[in-house]
Amino acid sequence: FPCEVIRNFSIIAHIDHGKSTLADRLLELTGTIETKSTGLNQQVLDKLKVERERGITVKAQTASMIYMAHGKQHLLNLIDTPGHVDFAWEVSRSMAACQGAVLLVDASQGVQAQSISVFHVAKERGLKIIPVLSKIDLPASQPERIAAQLQSTFGIDPSEILYISAKTGKGVEGVLQAIVDRIPSPSGNTHSPLKAFMFDSLYDRYRGVISLVSIQDGIIQKGDKIASCYTRRKYEITEVGVMHPEEMPTSSLQPGQVGYIACNMKESSEAHIGDTLHRVGVPVDPMPGFQPSKAMVYAGVFPVDSNDFIKLEESIKRAYRSVTVQRESSTALGQGCRLGFLGTLHMDVFRQRLEDEYDASIIITAPTVPYKVVYKDRTVMISNPTEFPDTSDTASQVKVVQEPVVNASIIVPEEYLGEMMTLCFAHRAENLDHRYLDSGSTSEASARTILTCTLPLSEIVTDFFDQLKSRSSGYASFDYEDGGYQTSDLSKMVFLLNGKPVDALALIVHRSAQQEVGRKWVQKLHKVIPRQLFEVPIQAAVGKKIIARETLSAMRADVTAGLYGGHYERKLKHLENQKESKRKMKRIGSVDLPQEAFFNILSTK
Ligand code: GDP
Ligand code: MG
Repeated sequence: FPCEVIRNFSIIAHIDHGKSTLADRLLELTGTIETKSTGLNQQVLDKLKVERERGITVKAQTASMIYMAHGKQHLLNLIDTPGHVDFAWEVSRSMAACQGAVLLVDASQGVQAQSISVFHVAKERGLKIIPVLSKIDLPASQPERIAAQLQSTFGIDPSEILYISAKTGKGVEGVLQAIVDRIPSPSGNTHSPLKAFMFDSLYDRYRGVISLVSIQDGIIQKGDKIASCYTRRKYEITEVGVMHPEEMPTSSLQPGQVGYIACNMKESSEAHIGDTLHRVGVPVDPMPGFQPSKAMVYAGVFPVDSNDFIKLEESIKRAYRSVTVQRESSTALGQGCRLGFLGTLHMDVFRQRLEDEYDASIIITAPTVPYKVVYKDRTVMISNPTEFPDTSDTASQVKVVQEPVVNASIIVPEEYLGEMMTLCFAHRAENLDHRYLDSGSTSEASARTILTCTLPLSEIVTDFFDQLKSRSSGYASFDYEDGGYQTSDLSKMVFLLNGKPVDALALIVHRSAQQEVGRKWVQKLHKVIPRQLFEVPIQAAVGKKIIARETLSAMRADVTAGLYGGHYERKLKHLENQKESKRKMKRIGSVDLPQEAFFNILSTK
């Protein structure tokens, strides 16, 4: 694969600002993919179905292309970074494999929450930033105003800004030129010991885990024996190559190059983003700043049919990187797995992929964040509500409970500022502050404000993002970073059916929300639980205190009584059906609950 000059870069942007579209244009211009004469673009870099449906890039995808400039062949390696805060750590890792970044900002929308966070990550990594305003073909675009925003927000020199439309192709060639001219070559020495930086991994049903690597030093080829700095495990390379844009085997990967390696790595959980690989027996210093991805949202996953458990567990372990897995069993739902996700989007993407790719019917319990329960002599991390102690019971010896918080920022036109503040306060926001990002324009566009506050992570894992969007008519953008832990007045809420707790439904709730949450869930349960032969009280309790209650009235004893006389066969059939459906029931105390009821309870917000 020719490489006289190498450029490693990524395109960084807020969601929807046109990253995938620009990437497609670059691949077309360099002849890496065929030009589509019809349709806007095929977005080859967004490979997962869920990504296409949601229009976001979840997994970083990489593509190499050849571009002629100044009479030389340039190997341009595009490293596509995920476009969501859940994957902040992976964004930062993908950028570690680059020397430059194209900062793409939609000329009609302007600077948004993630534009700011990705800019800072790129800046911290010392990357050369190429500022690009996109979508200049849109009538609503305001290139001068947004250029001024780039200058005031990031200190970018307006003379460096490129103006493009990835839709019409206008100005895109200039982006390739700027990549060649402004971004420095990667460093690296062919004769130094092998040092490969793993910034992403994919899973292939036949070959196992495929790792995407950037070669810092040395050469890697088929047959090499390598080891991971983090896990110390050893592997043998079976294939190396470049993404062009699909995998294309090559004889070796050289310093500065970006490509894939296949080896005898079986499970995605062995591939740690940010890990450094070296030759067996020739250790190197790992790349700095490695931290294993940190789960921030946990949920239980159970097969609807308990016979599927082994299959489910295997497919999760094999194919899902950055998902931590532990076994869990529940009286209500049977054997399942407790999974840790990077965030709620990560969880939703996981759920959809599992349903699509493995056609498994699953139940996912309400998401929880990891809490710290501080006792006199120790601190315990709790990521499963059923394990949470009864803090109202003094015998429990709990000193305080702490929860994770985030530093959030919201960018919104000023007329929505009040609404956004209300939303934040309703979610226990503290340290609220705001300032202007620009002063608006002479025409109809209003000034942009940036609102910052700290929010408990648990408050944003359910429907915060949806509310933010709907209450700002879609104009607000949102981002957050880890804000550590904070002491909080939290307790466990349990739901009782006929006096027996349903473990899968336990929740951790802040004191200020107890009444509302208890009431809401009890009503929901009342709606979905089928009537029994006897009256069933449905209660929400915190410690010994009942917070809310509904009563499910009894149904008539004989289900066949309603069928008109003489139809013996029909009657028999009905009794058969009833027996059949009994098998799918879970018994909580004396109450029979169909799995469907759990589906309904847990799938609605
Ligand atoms: P990403 O989330 O940053 O990857 O954004 P996409 O590339 O998926 O683009 C988001 C939307 O903007 C899509 O509907 C694109 O068709 C559209 N889009 C991207 N670039 C342009 C452009 O230059 N002009 C116009 N009019 N639309 C664009
Ligand atoms: Mg995209």
